[in-house]
Amino acid sequence: MEEGLISVDKWTTVSQVYFLTHLHSDHTQGLTPKWSKGPLYCSPITARLFPVRFPGFDMLLVRVLEAGKPQTLTLVSRSSHSKVLVEVTAIDARHCPGALMYLFRGQFGSVLYTGDFRWEIGDMKAVEGKNILLNALGDKKLDLLYMDNTYCNPSFSFPPRKVAAQQVVDIMTSHPHHDFVIGVDNLGKEDLLLHISQMLNTKIWVWPERLRVMHLLGFEDAFTTKTCLTRVRAVPRYSLTFETIESLNTVRPTIAILPTGLPWGKKFLDQKSLSYSCVSLCKEGSDIFAETGHSSEIFKSPRKLHQHMFAVSYSEHSCFKEIEEFLKYVNPSRISGIVSSAFCCINPRHYLDHLCKDESDNLCCKDSRGKLGLSVAWKAESVLECDKAFGIDKQINISGLLKGCKLRADSPKVLGVQRSMISKIRRRVRGVKIDHNDNFY
Ligand SMILES: [Zn+2]
Repeated sequence: MEEGLISVDKWTTVSQVYFLTHLHSDHTQGLTPKWSKGPLYCSPITARLFPVRFPGFDMLLVRVLEAGKPQTLTLVSRSSHSKVLVEVTAIDARHCPGALMYLFRGQFGSVLYTGDFRWEIGDMKAVEGKNILLNALGDKKLDLLYMDNTYCNPSFSFPPRKVAAQQVVDIMTSHPHHDFVIGVDNLGKEDLLLHISQMLNTKIWVWPERLRVMHLLGFEDAFTTKTCLTRVRAVPRYSLTFETIESLNTVRPTIAILPTGLPWGKKFLDQKSLSYSCVSLCKEGSDIFAETGHSSEIFKSPRKLHQHMFAVSYSEHSCFKEIEEFLKYVNPSRISGIVSSAFCCINPRHYLDHLCKDESDNLCCKDSRGKLGLSVAWKAESVLECDKAFGIDKQINISGLLKGCKLRADSPKVLGVQRSMISKIRRRVRGVKIDHNDNFY
């Protein structure tokens, strides 16, 4: 696709139209109440929540796309000034409320940007999404897939959300005299909270801004801001620390629950406060996995992190098996991960290259505008460290990873590349501006 036409979850570049997959902050960096670069497409739910997240935003810029209803956009080529027709189909990503995938089709071929997604195997809404996708593609192949690679490692195996939600309820029912605090973000995990509310027949306390979001989502009956009405509170995820849970327990017996797909490690238990840095989680995690021989099994049941704290594998992102299934029927020619900020994410090609049609057509090698050394190092380092974290005894064939890549003379040494440089790249990779060159860096 020609440069300057479309941007997805990327807000600082100049394009004719912009697409927002969902309202999590790592997808809105650069989007502000005063942003006004062009039309912004999103789901009806995202549009409804927009004024809460961006008060004063010019809502005339917002265009609503319904899932499964293709729209044709007429854009203008910057180079030839001729019309460029782009058909876009939105598909439910089954991530947080309002999250969409976007399929773009045109003379450039077909490109699917998943945003964050969780398509559980057997989930009827995921099946519906799959049918929309396959119908929109027709007999055409998917040329390029930008995919949520948060858990793109076989180590990540966790249960469907319904199972994890019941695990949370089971913890609660087995502690009838305790209060509970559950760490959540500004958006997401509503189904978990609703399940708890229904099963325990109780309202759930949320902070005032979260209550406003719940009202806009139509869930007001199950939530309250009055602490006296309930023993279950959903609190901002960042506020849950060992210190806070310990001080809560000086007043009332309280258990903290962290719904997350991320690994948590033993060293953590010795620390006073929690950090949500995935980097430290993985590093600390390596100890417990090495000591106990645990692998992915550890994610399938609640883990006790502290005397008063459990982690439950409730994830809004697809686990590895689900990603694998997704790729089998999408069968893209090329693939690229969209997540680079989380430590444990891995270039999807490492484990899933065999599910791409053009296995040799490596984006990493082909389109990275000469930054091949960094690109390859990112992959090699991520795989090595993440596998190490999960106790995977695996030799990474670095020469295999490098095969076909030409390093620039000024590229950093592949294996000696500085972590700070890699981190810098990771921060910048999120979001994509689609153009004829790959614009990951
Ligand atoms: Zn998200």
